[in-house]
Amino acid sequence: DLPSSLMRATVDQAPVAISITDLKANILYVNAAFSEITGYAPQECIGRNESMLSDRRTPPEVYQELWGCITRQQPWRGRLLNRHRDGRRYLADLTVAPMLNEAGETTHFIGMHRDVTEEY
Ligand code: FAD
Repeated sequence: DLPSSLMRATVDQAPVAISITDLKANILYVNAAFSEITGYAPQECIGRNESMLSDRRTPPEVYQELWGCITRQQPWRGRLLNRHRDGRRYLADLTVAPMLNEAGETTHFIGMHRDVTEEY
């Protein structure tokens, strides 16, 4: 087994924005790439909802589909418009997946995204 310090460093340093939330999308953890891509330091976003990143131009159906998927314990992948701390909009390629306990219940969600504005 890998030491947990290495597991932690791997997530901290992974070159993709990673966040872990509770079941209502309140942020519990963000990695360094999340802070880089969104502009928010950990202390500025932990305890807030992922909706803090939302640009109000993404159609509500996108979020409904996301929640429909993850509440059925399926991962969701899609593109939506996020807003950087400095106000700039960027296109996020986002994957959200449920984290399950041994009883098969969802305990948390994990979010992973990249800024794909340049690729669009
Ligand atoms: P909401 O109030 O969130 O409502 C939008 C729709 O989602 C509604 O239909 C509502 O019924 C449904 N919904 C909301 N919460 C729940 C719930 N707890 N259970 C079931 N259905 C629910 N959004 C982004 O814009 N950018 C991101 O990068 C992003 N990353 C996310 C990462 C993770 C791990 C998770 C779990 C969610 C993420 N979201 C992200 C979605 C975010 O939580 C919001 O749902 C979204 O931003 C819309 O916010 P809102 O306030 O406009 O609407």
